Amino acid sequence: MGDDHDWSCRSCGRVALPVADGNCAARVARERVDRLLSTGPGLLHPQLAPLRSLLLTEIETDPYPVLFWLYRAGWAALLGELAGTHDEITHAVLDALPPRRHIQYLRAVLVNAGILPRRDEDLDSTIPWLNEVLDGLPESTVAIVRPYAGVQAHQRQVDAPDVRRRLGY
Ligand SMILES: [Zn+2]
Repeated sequence: MGDDHDWSCRSCGRVALPVADGNCAARVARERVDRLLSTGPGLLHPQLAPLRSLLLTEIETDPYPVLFWLYRAGWAALLGELAGTHDEITHAVLDALPPRRHIQYLRAVLVNAGILPRRDEDLDSTIPWLNEVLDGLPESTVAIVRPYAGVQAHQRQVDAPDVRRRLGY
């Protein structure tokens, strides 16, 4: 491999480590977020625009925690399923799913993002398990969801190389 290798991203031209098909991590993360939050190809689910804005802002800072979140979080996958199958995501839609921990977590995020109305009965059951869910996620990802969940997460030190190692980059 010579010194003339072109390290610029095929999509945005930014010089960065290409992670997939010659594209930089930011580009890959943006594509995955858009795919996750869409009802179909190129069609963003209208309810999920606030969440998309939040994630794109985070990607501009550092795409790796968002990639990690997309890869790992069960509620992210569930959100993707719901976006593709429900024109409107409601409490009733979530209530109809088999009760799983990540459903409660998804509900908390949607409520705190203003996407779903708050229901008082959901609050008490949210707090005890949320720190457990957040534990193990990169600090910057926790910083995304913590304000929305309205709780204090563990104070932890997470260094970027550790995140990248777990991502396999
Ligand atoms: Zn790029």
